[in-house]
Amino acid sequence: MSPSADTVPEERRQSSAAIELPLIAWRCSACGRTSFPARSRCSYCWSEDGAEVELPSEGEVHSFTTIHVGPPGTPLPYTVAYVDVDGVRIFARVEGEPRIGAHGRVHALAPTGEPPQFVVEVEREEASGDG
Ligand SMILES: [Zn+2]
Repeated sequence: MSPSADTVPEERRQSSAAIELPLIAWRCSACGRTSFPARSRCSYCWSEDGAEVELPSEGEVHSFTTIHVGPPGTPLPYTVAYVDVDGVRIFARVEGEPRIGAHGRVHALAPTGEPPQFVVEVEREEASGDG
C-alpha cells in the first residue's frame, strides 16, 4: 500500500523558521570511534581526549519503518529511518521513498528554541538497465 498524495498535507513540510545546523560529532583520540551527537567524552571508552568533527551530510539508509499512530495533531503516517553517516547511525524522519541502502542527504533542523530534528531526504532511485 502506498500513501496517496492527499494523505501527506502541506503543513507537514518544515516551517521556514527552522534553522539548519551542521552535523557535529565527537571523535575520540584514544579509541578512534565517533560519538553523535557531540559530547564531552567518548561513548565507548569514556576518554575525554578527542575533538568535535563535522560529519558529511550524505548517508545511507540502514533501516526504516512507517508510523501510523500518534498523539492528536500528529500528521500521519510518517516514516523514520536509521541512516549511516561516516561511521555513526542517525535516527531521522524520512522525506521521500526510503529503501535500504538508498543514499540521502541528512539535515539537522532546529525550530526556534528547540533541539534539532534530523531529516533525511532520500534520493530517487535511478532507473538502471540491470535485470
Ligand atoms: Zn573512545
